[in-house]
Amino acid sequence: MADRMILKILPLLVLSMVAAAREVAAQDAECVRERAAMVETIRTYARSRVDALGRDGLSDRVLEALGKTKRHLFIPERSCSIAYSDAPLSIGHGQTISQPFIVALMTELAEVAPDHVVLEIGTGSGYQAAILAHLARKVCTIEIIPPLAETAAKTLRDAAYDNVSVRLGDGFAGWPECGPFDAIVVTAALGEVPPPLIEQLKVGGRLVMPVGSAYASQQLTVVEKTAPDKTTTRAVALVRFVPFTRPKK
Ligand code: SAH
Repeated sequence: MADRMILKILPLLVLSMVAAAREVAAQDAECVRERAAMVETIRTYARSRVDALGRDGLSDRVLEALGKTKRHLFIPERSCSIAYSDAPLSIGHGQTISQPFIVALMTELAEVAPDHVVLEIGTGSGYQAAILAHLARKVCTIEIIPPLAETAAKTLRDAAYDNVSVRLGDGFAGWPECGPFDAIVVTAALGEVPPPLIEQLKVGGRLVMPVGSAYASQQLTVVEKTAPDKTTTRAVALVRFVPFTRPKK
């Protein structure tokens, strides 16, 4: 009698264990838990940075975009434990993918809306472009290092980000054919805001960029274009970015 009961229950038990193991494996492959934990860390930390955000925490839209973007796909190791710490990471060629909180902060400050066209200078891994792609209609991004531009374009294509265009070149001149832009995010540090970028920004649009000398702390700066020939500028936080390089003449 007891034997028959066991024989009946056993297959069900095995099946449910297999299903549970499959679910764990699938979650691992997608790094679901690690990503959710990272979003929570950033959500909590952001509440203490009213100074930089100008508001009490990050918006739900930006947090949702962070939750949807698989950062592990954008780093060479593709490891869940490495990808989802709130830290900058090396992507080779002397470049880094920014700390996720800084990506979130810059995205929030850019005030991206669903019908927006956004320009990013410094594609790097493509992670920031992917976050922007969840929030905007179209993202145009420029990278100066050929293998990084190539890899980022492939990663974005493979992950079906079909509203992102990657261009190889010097971002100083912007990308007039892709604009005008509702928002511009520059992810490399320079002592000045490139004038062509201001030209390609729509009135009412915002540019977010680390301004200052490379390899020192820079001021994360928000420039708002208030009229065709008028801007307002405010510095919101001290940050540390890789240099905005210019091609040798
Ligand atoms: N946004 C990236 C990280 C950027 S690191 C990400 O999410 O992964 C800064 C990037 O800016 C580097 O890849 C660097 O090669 C690029 N860069 C530096 N100067 C540039 C220029 N003049 N034009 C375009 N890209 C530039």
